[in-house]
Amino acid sequence: MNRISVGILGATGVVGQNYLRLLANHPWFEIVDLAASSRSAGKTYEDAVGDRWLMKSSMPTEFKNMVVRDVTDYESIPSNVTLFFSATELGDKEATRDFEFIYASKGYPVVSNSSANRWTPDVPMIIPEINGDHLEILPIQQKNRNFPSSGFVAVKPNCSVQSYLVAIHALREAGYPVEEVLVNTLQALSGAGYRGLTEPERRITVNPLIPGEEEKTEREPSKILGLLEDNQIIPDYSMEMSALCTRVPVVDGHTALVYLNFVDEAPSLEKISKIWSEFEGEPQTLKLPSAPMPPILVMEEEDRPQVHLDVNNGNGMAVTIGRLAEDKFFDIRFVALSHNTVRGAAGGAILTAELLVEKGYINHN
Ligand code: NAP
Repeated sequence: MNRISVGILGATGVVGQNYLRLLANHPWFEIVDLAASSRSAGKTYEDAVGDRWLMKSSMPTEFKNMVVRDVTDYESIPSNVTLFFSATELGDKEATRDFEFIYASKGYPVVSNSSANRWTPDVPMIIPEINGDHLEILPIQQKNRNFPSSGFVAVKPNCSVQSYLVAIHALREAGYPVEEVLVNTLQALSGAGYRGLTEPERRITVNPLIPGEEEKTEREPSKILGLLEDNQIIPDYSMEMSALCTRVPVVDGHTALVYLNFVDEAPSLEKISKIWSEFEGEPQTLKLPSAPMPPILVMEEEDRPQVHLDVNNGNGMAVTIGRLAEDKFFDIRFVALSHNTVRGAAGGAILTAELLVEKGYINHN
């Protein structure tokens, strides 16, 4: 097929830069529009980013001279854009929600990294290995909001959720429902965007507070694990979650220390390890271009996963799990790691867009 023309909203930020890196040679998508705040609008991408390019690889040459558009300048959207990835917030959540819906109302599919629309009832919050079926709500969203048949908003969850939820989903799918989860996250600086990576005092401390993060961590799994029934996504509150989230001096990679109790008798550690190692979701079955193979990598070494060794497993799209053990107070515990700006942001959204294409939700030639 011809590559699908895409635009990046928030192209100059940490997540935006990851989109450019990941899409530079993507087989299905081609970037034709870059947009950011009014501060960047009218400048070439290279000038707009200035010394804020934070990727290890250099800025792809093809984007350097593209002129950045203001994300709210709807009149100047290039006519060839088919799909938008959004990695930006406008002032407050309400303004961000409205802005994403304006793009949808103009007939564009929007796959968003922002938290603004995660709890909008007719917006699916997708981890492609878990709940691709929730995309079936999109025609309802279009009908509810009078969008053209091509326009909609789909979102990604919070950037640490996939570190452990894919593993929990695999256990549930194998017939071992989980009753209680205690999770402590050790979240990377890049999770706080450009400021997180550039304020020097953040590199020498552990900050025990990430405002709003624990609420998101405890709440978002219920929607992702929910059932699509009667044209609604009904959250599944059967699994209780308790979260404590911290920011640690690590550049990329959110680690989660997870403790859990099963509803029934716990499977053996060998069984759990086998379930995780053999797990495949829809992206793997469909062989989507960004699907990691395997999605869950189980490590036996006692000192893994470690951020600097494992964050890029599966091109930054895999979840790496280690230290699986029985626990004194819970049935089991384990350590899980995933790349927050790849799997937890740009890469996860690209995988969602690939699923949308494969399932026919994105009109293209
Ligand atoms: P960032 O590095 O601070 O970048 C913010 C981007 O938004 C920049 O392109 C900036 O443009 C633009 N922007 C800021 N204020 C704006 C405004 N008022 N109007 C229009 N554009 C504006 O942030 P980030 O880490 O890339 O995060 C972007 C989004 O992804 C956020 O919603 C965040 O919650 C979400 N997210 C981030 C991560 C992560 O790990 N970092 C993970 C999941 C989700 P200028 O350069 O022109 O200012």
